[in-house]
Amino acid sequence: MMDLHHLDLHHLTSDLHHFVDDLVRPGGGQSYSGSRSSGGSRSSGGGGGSYHSSGGSSSSGGGDGGAFFILLFQLVFRYPQIGIPLLIIVIVVVVVRARMNAKATGTGWASQDLSSVAFEPPEEEEDVPATTGVPRRTLDRIRETDPDFSIVLFEDFLYTLYSEMMRARGQQGAMQLAAYLSAPVQQVLVAKSMQSVTGIVIGAMRVSSLDRTQSSWRVTLDFETNLTEATQRLYVVDRVTVERNVNAKSRPPARSRTLDCPNCGAPLHNLRGDTCTYCKQQVGMGRFDWSVVYFERLQSENRGPLLTSDVEETGTDAPTIVDPMSQQELANLRQRDPSFDWNAFQQRVGLAFNEMQIGWSNRDLSKVRPYVSDNLFQTQAYWIDLYVQARARNITEGARIGRIDLANVICDKYYDAITIRLFATSSDYTIGDDGKLLSGNKSKQRAYSEYWTWIRGAGKQGPTKTTPNCPSCGAPLQINQAGSCQYCNVKVTTGEFDWVLSRIEQDDSYTG
Ligand SMILES: [Zn+2]
Ligand SMILES: [Zn+2]
Repeated sequence: MMDLHHLDLHHLTSDLHHFVDDLVRPGGGQSYSGSRSSGGSRSSGGGGGSYHSSGGSSSSGGGDGGAFFILLFQLVFRYPQIGIPLLIIVIVVVVVRARMNAKATGTGWASQDLSSVAFEPPEEEEDVPATTGVPRRTLDRIRETDPDFSIVLFEDFLYTLYSEMMRARGQQGAMQLAAYLSAPVQQVLVAKSMQSVTGIVIGAMRVSSLDRTQSSWRVTLDFETNLTEATQRLYVVDRVTVERNVNAKSRPPARSRTLDCPNCGAPLHNLRGDTCTYCKQQVGMGRFDWSVVYFERLQSENRGPLLTSDVEETGTDAPTIVDPMSQQELANLRQRDPSFDWNAFQQRVGLAFNEMQIGWSNRDLSKVRPYVSDNLFQTQAYWIDLYVQARARNITEGARIGRIDLANVICDKYYDAITIRLFATSSDYTIGDDGKLLSGNKSKQRAYSEYWTWIRGAGKQGPTKTTPNCPSCGAPLQINQAGSCQYCNVKVTTGEFDWVLSRIEQDDSYTG
């Protein structure tokens, strides 16, 4: 089966008109995964752009079967005594291979001691492995042994670790990460067959499981990522298991995105193997910080990001997944900050929502920057770049929020996080720079819903800003790409000053 929709960026412009019924919108609406055959899984954690599959569930394994089947067909009729048994064998092989393909296609790289870990068996719907998961609050259990543990910081750390691990592939760089990668994982990463990886954009990360063994916490996560291996653009789903000793403690926010000696903070080049020449400690094996003990590529598709595609909204009618603790946590938050006002918070959501529609359609994120975390901004910028290169833009006119549901509130030592479910409508179409309609429908409004997670520093109190002013100095918002105010030069996108949007998840990928 030919993969007609495979998108090479160089051909993107010319290919665009092949795609009809576009569906993309700022900050979401973009399917990050998913074969259309599975009902159009949409799970853009990162928020921008479309990651729709190219029509088949996989672009591999098709190709050269045609001639063989013609031969087989002839055999069945001319020499049925050979042809029919052969046909049966072929059917069996095809069915078995299809089942195996539906399961994980990659190689699992486990460290030896993982034999003791009970990995959850793959779910039936294995062609969308990333949609399985446990609620994020599950991770709160880690606070039993590490009261400073913060889900927000943990996610930041994991984004960094995953990206560095990908970048280190095929290079000695993997050895430099000895403090964070188990020996078997390092070995696989430096193998000659490993292509170097560039252009890593994580669209979504989900928690698949949390286990506590006698000595360690183990967390398994699924990353949905777009990346380039050598020159090949891929969409992948990677499963990563990290492990940390139960006695280890979380690093403070300032160090949460830095990979250095997990014990003393010395730069990584001071490590010999997993021994730090500075503090003389063996710092690998999850002794002081999370270490990757298992890596598996669950899904890999040869395709670049698709800017237009045809996927129906799914899950919009589903009830909101409300965490049972959310109301209590919100009450706690109000107690700590009596000036917290739900209406003002919703107004801030609306402000950011409007700026995102404008920024997205104009391919200019400067006004969006103040409201989004670094990770989310990078993902959005990645999509905007693609549209610029494709000389097209996705327009969402008449965007309007219909309703906002409270879904979750998680508070820890460093951050308060509020997840809302936002119901909205907008038009959704893509036009070329020449004004030609490439996909979508200008006059039709689409209804959709998404889960938006907002974070704010736990120490912060005071009214939520509902106007486009710097949350630090109050000047009219002029924020540079790094997220700093041009007047007071303070970085305002960490959530230290006011609520910032850190994650956008689609209905069918949100697990709580
Ligand atoms: Zn050290
Ligand atoms: Zn300022």
